[in-house]
Amino acid sequence: MSFSTLGLSAPLLKAIQEQGYTEPTPIQKQAIPVILARKDILAGAQTGTGKTAGFTLPLLELLSRAKPEKQKQHHVRALILTPTRELAAQVGESVAVYGKHLPFKSTIIFGGVKINPQIIQLRKGVDIVIATPGRLLDLMNQKVVDLSKVEFLILDEADRMLDMGFINDIKKILAILPKQRQNLLFSATYSEEIKQLSDRLLNSPTLIEVARRNTATETVKQTVYPVDKERKKELLIHLIKEGDWKQILVFTRTKHGANRLSEQLEKEGISSAAIHGNKSQNARTKALDDFKKGEVAVLVATDIAARGIDIDQLPHVVNYELPNVSEDYVHRIGRTGRAGRGGEAISLVCVDELEYLQNIEKLIKIDIQKIALKGFKPDPSIKAEPINMGGNRGARNKPRGGSGGGQARAKTPRGSSRGSSGGRR
Ligand code: AMP
Repeated sequence: MSFSTLGLSAPLLKAIQEQGYTEPTPIQKQAIPVILARKDILAGAQTGTGKTAGFTLPLLELLSRAKPEKQKQHHVRALILTPTRELAAQVGESVAVYGKHLPFKSTIIFGGVKINPQIIQLRKGVDIVIATPGRLLDLMNQKVVDLSKVEFLILDEADRMLDMGFINDIKKILAILPKQRQNLLFSATYSEEIKQLSDRLLNSPTLIEVARRNTATETVKQTVYPVDKERKKELLIHLIKEGDWKQILVFTRTKHGANRLSEQLEKEGISSAAIHGNKSQNARTKALDDFKKGEVAVLVATDIAARGIDIDQLPHVVNYELPNVSEDYVHRIGRTGRAGRGGEAISLVCVDELEYLQNIEKLIKIDIQKIALKGFKPDPSIKAEPINMGGNRGARNKPRGGSGGGQARAKTPRGSSRGSSGGRR
């Protein structure tokens, strides 16, 4: 089955093609036609299943089917609620990517950053608002957001929203919305609370359930090695040599860091290649082929470059640096332990990254085993310092102009910031 049979029009098919997706995922196959048929859905789907495109694509399609006059008004026609600013930023990014060839504007709204830039964005007029409940309520109370023309409401990761105590905020938001609208509810788990919420919210919903794809956090053996930043390279080399590891995917936060580490490993006699966005497609393909064939032992990659890399039986994934977006950790470790095979994910964590580690453990609900290796124990006198993002992934996650709000038509509509866990709303 291809995307073209699902009822999506050319601008969306083009964006999908540009993303390199060839086939819809199970949730997309099931959800897209139902949403296009204007039905409410209750979907059990986790991160990693392609759920975001599963609702974003048909949403954009339906918005684009409205009369041109309506499209020109840029009223808020779709509201997407998410539990965290990170998820809001990711969904916002998806809306921007898939909606690239459509005229809609979107903005991301969340707390912990200045409210004024968000107000300015809203006043300019937007079609799609992606928001965390708390900040949206603030804006509603200030009467700067008009939700009276909302046609579509999407609750993403509804179970996490309830876990985070957003139920009253959600109720207040629901009370304001027009009664006539289409509702889509996504939740990784079903509880009595989710049932109550769906009963209240959804109109004869179609139930959609897909198999869990992201069981990596359960099947992969995860270990954290606390270590000083300056000694990570040494520790990595030690682990590779001691363990006689043959095929290792190593993640760094920045392109520069990937190059540097790869060069350093080579100097130590460990064959290595780096892949990241600055390399030509040919160079990336060659590096990946060499790695798959076993000619190169270590592939050093950034999150973005590693997307779409599919390597069977990859035994080791190393987080040389932890990602600042916790979900990326899950994506990273999901590269190993596929198809029921054992896999190992190792994270080298320095004092600067302890907050990231906490966020990751909160997300995966696992207290990862920590091993302080003799000879590599961190020096307790070293204090945490802010992390330099090197203008790669970090740039993506810096709130633009301090706002975090961004027009989806702009090139990089992103929002979450480093250290964002503190004021999550
Ligand atoms: P999600 O579950 O929405 O967080 O998506 C997980 C990842 O799957 C994202 O990185 C998407 O870019 C990717 N993705 C979504 N749909 C497809 C598809 N049809 N083919 C390949 N990758 C996809």
